[in-house]
Formats: sequence, structure tokens, C-alpha cells
Amino acid sequence: MAEIAVDTVSELRKSFEGEVSLPGSSSYDEAVRIWNGAVTRRPAVVASCTTAGDVVAALEVARREGLELSVRGGGHNYAGNALCEGGMMIDLTPMKTVTVDVEAQRATCGGGTTWGEFDAATQAHGLAVPGGFISHTGVAGLTLGGGIGWLSRLAGLSSDNLVGATVVTADGRVLKASGDENPDLFWAIRGGGGNFGVVTEFEFGLHQVGPLVHLGLFLFSPEHGRDLFRFAREFVRDLPDESQVFLAGLNAPPEPFVPEELQLSPVFGLVVVGLGDAETHQRLIAPIKDSLSPIVELVTPIPYVDLQQMFDASAPWGLHSYEKAIYVDDLTDGVIDAIVEHQAKKMSPLSFVPIFNFGGAFRRVDEEDTAFGGSRDTGYAINISATTPSPEEFDAERSWVRDYWSALLPHASGSGGYVNFMTEYDEDRVRNSYGAKYERLQQIKAAFDPDNVFHLNPNIKPA
Ligand SMILES: Cc1cc2nc3c(=O)[nH]c(=O)nc-3n(C[C@H](O)[C@H](O)[C@H](O)COP(=O)(O)OP(=O)(O)OC[C@H]3O[C@@H](n4cnc5c(N)ncnc54)[C@H](O)[C@@H]3O)c2cc1C
Repeated sequence: MAEIAVDTVSELRKSFEGEVSLPGSSSYDEAVRIWNGAVTRRPAVVASCTTAGDVVAALEVARREGLELSVRGGGHNYAGNALCEGGMMIDLTPMKTVTVDVEAQRATCGGGTTWGEFDAATQAHGLAVPGGFISHTGVAGLTLGGGIGWLSRLAGLSSDNLVGATVVTADGRVLKASGDENPDLFWAIRGGGGNFGVVTEFEFGLHQVGPLVHLGLFLFSPEHGRDLFRFAREFVRDLPDESQVFLAGLNAPPEPFVPEELQLSPVFGLVVVGLGDAETHQRLIAPIKDSLSPIVELVTPIPYVDLQQMFDASAPWGLHSYEKAIYVDDLTDGVIDAIVEHQAKKMSPLSFVPIFNFGGAFRRVDEEDTAFGGSRDTGYAINISATTPSPEEFDAERSWVRDYWSALLPHASGSGGYVNFMTEYDEDRVRNSYGAKYERLQQIKAAFDPDNVFHLNPNIKPA
């Protein structure tokens, strides 16, 4: 690991309100602990920022010294982009302030906030923004790449609900980005990832949600996989915006609602969440019980904050993980065959394949309104995720992901995918994900980061 000059560190500390940490300190160890334990890069220095001014100071030093730069929001990224090797990590973890303006139905949060922290603050007022399915994910990375969650049929992606942001650009300017100020930058950060600067504050429009919502969780034995997916294909067609469907290939969780003999056995899952009234939810899920044969069901009202944390235990920190995702327009028979065949080859009980359905408000956002990498006509994102507790089993599980992905490719809308579900950034795949938007993103990248300082991401090459 490259060492950093003592003078450089002391100089940064002089103009810095946050903490500057070096290897060997506990603050360094804490800051470089990210979600994916397979990523072992070690920055030479961590600048834990408390203000936009700290980010400006850190950037200035990193650029002058020619240091590789990475940015940490929630540290949840599969590719481990929060960590650079031997350079400087700009750590936004201390910037977690969330403020809620109930009257204006707006909330702001710092660039290091997690969804759990954000939901707690907004749900205190019965309000919410679409976030991710795991509450310890960062608001920053998830929103900048898009943001798919339980509220996506109701209110679109997280990024569709962004109304403004404060961005520190590569040359150290602190800019506001919104529909009125720097609109190109605002367009680019709603899907274009961390390519355009360090976002120190996000401002979202809020929606009334909960606090109680309705859960319908069903598990099926593998031999009923085809029936389930054919059923789901029709089920989602007339789904109201107030409902969201989530499918998965997984091992049954060791939770009390799963009979002991089924715990950890391979299953398929269907989750239907109702954000409206209980009667509508009951009416919607009735055919699942009538025409399919779930081996486990959990139908219950649930606080929205608990729903947001429901899968947290399935995604613990520090394991070895790899993912590759693909978009399909529909669950055609070919897609279903590939899913059922390859799901059976999964080895690690921790690996799982979440399948996100798109519709409702997500579909009604105009294709050109944001930089989101994916068509608004897309039906599903299938995310093949490998997780193993130790490095020994990891290579085989990663091969399983790649084979599964290749089997789905002939049925997909292209080789691109949701950029937040990439562990490797093959240039063609990133370009394909953005399609016709890629050139505009390149122009904006050239305007705000011509030297590609921010390149540890699904990288947009400056025009
Ligand atoms: C278990 C798990 C579940 C997930 N579930 C979902 C889901 O339900 N829906 C969904 O849409 N996605 C989901 N994701 C993907 C998630 O959106 C991405 O991993 C995202 O990158 C995480 O953001 P982060 O801030 O936590 O990550 P980080 O690793 O901190 O950052 C990720 C990227 O964003 C950049 N970045 C971070 N903060 C900033 C900032 N403040 N300013 C500029 N750039 C920044 C980083 O440089 C890096 O390139 C999930 C990921 C995991 C591991």
C-alpha cells in the first residue's frame, strides 16, 4: 500500500473539521469496513468529512498530490467502490443529518445517511421516499444510480423523487443542482452514479406512507417454480400503484414463521406489499393462496420501517459477494426455464436472486427526464447474487452467477443492466445500460469532471 507524506496529512488536518485517519488507527479500521468482504483495497488515508468545506479541502489535497480518490456513502456497493488502493477515501459517514419539512413535504439528508436513518426520521411523520430493500444501504449510492424499492410502483425510483442536491465538483466548487440550478448536473446525478462530484446533501419530495402497511410473503418449493412465475407474469399486469411485487430464488430463512424442517431449504419467494387499505390487499393476495401451493405464508400488517428492515439479516456485512444483473421485458417461458434450471445449481445458502418488478409510477416517468440506466418499459431486473462466508467457495459461486446470467442473456433487453447491481464495470455494459443517454452523460462529465477524478464507479468517460 502506498504511504502518504506526513506533511500532506498535517496540512489536510489544519483545514479540516472532520477526522483524518491513517492505517493502524481504530477510526481508519471503522471507515474502511465496507459491506462486501471480498474487496480488500486499502486507502493510504481516510478523510472523514463533516461539511462540504471538508470535502473541498480533501479534494484539493488529493488532486494536488495526484492521489487516487474514492468516495464512501453507505459503503454497501458490491464492487466496493468506496475503497481505493493507496489513495484517499473521502468518507461521508459523519454527514447523516436528516431534516423533515412536513409542511413542504420535503426532506434533506447528508451524503452519508443510510436508508434506516432516513426512514426513521420521515416515518415519524408518516412520510417516506422510495428507498432500497435493505436499510443499511446508503441513500447516496443507491439514489445516484437509480434506487429500486417497495415504493417504486407508487412513486418511482429514489432518484425520481430527488428535487435538489449539493454537489462538490472535481475542481472544488460547491454547486446546487436542481431543476432551476445546474439542470444538466441535476439530470446526470439522477441515475449517472457518482461520476459528477461528491453529493454532500440530497433533498427529496415526500409521500404519505403507512405507518402500517400490509405484507403477504409466500414461499414455494422448487418444483412449483414454473407455476409461480407464470402466475406472477399475469398477476402484475393489473396491479395497482399501491402494491409492489418482489420475487426471489433463495433458501428459506431460519425465522420463526418458517417451519423448522423447511428452514434453509431452497425455495422460491413471492412478496406482495400493499400500501393502501387491508381489504384491497386481502383481495389481491387471495388468488395466491387459491391457485398456487405456498409451503409458507406470512400475511400481516407491518410498520413500514419494519418492512424496510425485513431483509436486513439476509445481507450481513463482511461476507464475500458478487452480483450480475439483467433486465427482461417479461417473464417469458424462456426466462422462467433459465431461472428454474440455474436456481437449482446454486450452492451457497446465502446466495439469492431477487427479481424486481417495474410498473406504475416508475413507468410514467419520461425516458429523457433522468439519466437512469434502463428503459422505463423494462418489466423486471433479475439480480443474480452470490454470497459465501469464506473465500474458498467464492470462485465456484461466482461462476454460477456468470452461467446463470449468460443463460438469461438471449431473453434480455440487452447486455446492460442496473448500474447499482454491477460488481465489474465492463465499458460496453455500462454504455449499453445508458443506451442513447450515454453521449449526453459524456458531455456533462466533460463539463464537471474532465479529468475523470471520479472514476471508481460505473464510469462515464468524459467526451
Ligand atoms: C445487500 C444489498 C442490497 C441492495 N438492495 C438494493 C435495492 O433494494 N435497491 C437498489 O436500488 N439498490 C440496492 N442495492 C445496490 C445499491 O444501490 C448500491 O450498492 C449502492 O451503490 C450502495 O450505495 P452506498 O452509498 O451504500 O455505497 P458506497 O459503496 O458508499 O458507494 C457506492 C458508489 O456511489 C458513490 N457514492 C457514494 N456516496 C456518494 C456521494 N455522497 N456522492 C457521490 N458519490 C457517492 C461511490 O463513490 C461509489 O461509486 C443493494 C446492495 C446490496 C449490497
